[in-house]
Amino acid sequence: MSTLFRRLAGAALTAAVIVMFPVAANASGPTGYGFAQPAQAVGGPSGVDNVRADAPTAPRAQGAPLAAATWYYHIESSCRGYESSIRRGANYWGGAVETQSGGTPVGCVSGYVQGCGGGTTVVGCNWNMGGRIALSFRVNDFALLAAHEFGHNWYGHSASGCMSWRSSYEVMRTHSC
Ligand SMILES: [Zn+2]
Repeated sequence: MSTLFRRLAGAALTAAVIVMFPVAANASGPTGYGFAQPAQAVGGPSGVDNVRADAPTAPRAQGAPLAAATWYYHIESSCRGYESSIRRGANYWGGAVETQSGGTPVGCVSGYVQGCGGGTTVVGCNWNMGGRIALSFRVNDFALLAAHEFGHNWYGHSASGCMSWRSSYEVMRTHSC
């Protein structure tokens, strides 16, 4: 039973990706979708992210951050110096409890995040909805990236485009710009 569960869990492996989208990289972005956002800031609705089709629904457009039940995470030493930004991102969702070694491990990298799929400019990843989070320092708003990745504990992406703090819907957009 334990083995079966593990196998099933393996099959359901999912990684949610946020992709840095520098202007130069947009040349490969799909066209013709009619989005109003500036082209250089928008990735396509497919082929950029790695969220599976049955990913949990996105937060409602006008929804306030959910008051989540208590959940846990810990910050690894690779993130030294950035703890306050990560805490800000975690606390955005409510219910966050930082621990020494329990809950979702949060690690940091100075380059792009590897092993997440979704392209070569991935700056954040949340494997298995809270199994592990990786954050890249290569973003303008590190706390926002953290909030986005923690959001994948419950949500998929809301829409293509640049994320912002305006709402949980905006936090869960696909790109760090
Ligand atoms: Zn994402």
